[in-house]
Amino acid sequence: MQESLRALLELQETDRGLHDLEQYKVDIPNKLEDMETVQSEAETRLADQVTKVAEIEKNRRQREQDLQIAQERVQKYQGQLYSVKTNKEYDALQTEIQAQKNLISELEDAILQLISESESEQEALETMRGETESLVERLSEERKALESRLSAVDEDVAVKMDERKRMAMRVENPVLKVYNRIRRNLHGMTVVPVKKGACSGCFHIIPLQIMLQIRQGRRLVSCESCGRILVVEEGLEH
Ligand SMILES: [Zn+2]
Repeated sequence: MQESLRALLELQETDRGLHDLEQYKVDIPNKLEDMETVQSEAETRLADQVTKVAEIEKNRRQREQDLQIAQERVQKYQGQLYSVKTNKEYDALQTEIQAQKNLISELEDAILQLISESESEQEALETMRGETESLVERLSEERKALESRLSAVDEDVAVKMDERKRMAMRVENPVLKVYNRIRRNLHGMTVVPVKKGACSGCFHIIPLQIMLQIRQGRRLVSCESCGRILVVEEGLEH
């Protein structure tokens, strides 16, 4: 019986390993998906910034065209000043020239503003581009590592299953049956040591009579509260 219990503890270790491997199969694809989201968000932010810079530049070019038109008008009206016949026409031209000059001054201010805006957004874009590039690079490396980890999982599972089969053969059949049944119902530890007179799975106090049976190791003893298989504290020595 003691030999069976010893083998059972090893079997439990293997089962825990198998459980971890199965968990990888869920965790890794989830992580890969999260990474995909992080990357596409960063790429979207970068694309938005490219659009922002392009908008500012487009705006600036438009103002520069407007500026040129206004400057040409001023020249044209100034030329016309010499050929007007009446004071009224002269005043009207002067008013128009002043209006165009005001417009020119507004446009020049706006263009300067846009140039400085463009410079700082361009700078932000370059920073963002660098950060995105290194993010993509880092994610790609992580992705490769996770994918190779994932592709190795099935092989690891096969190895562990083999290991499990060999271990299971060292456990007496009735003991194995109890273990397998408990394992299906409980998550995690199925074989637990008694610690300070209590089941370390559920902390139920073990009666002295039962403690004695566990120490004798002649039959399989389960915790009457949680059903876990009990072994003596500190492994299996008497
Ligand atoms: Zn218990």
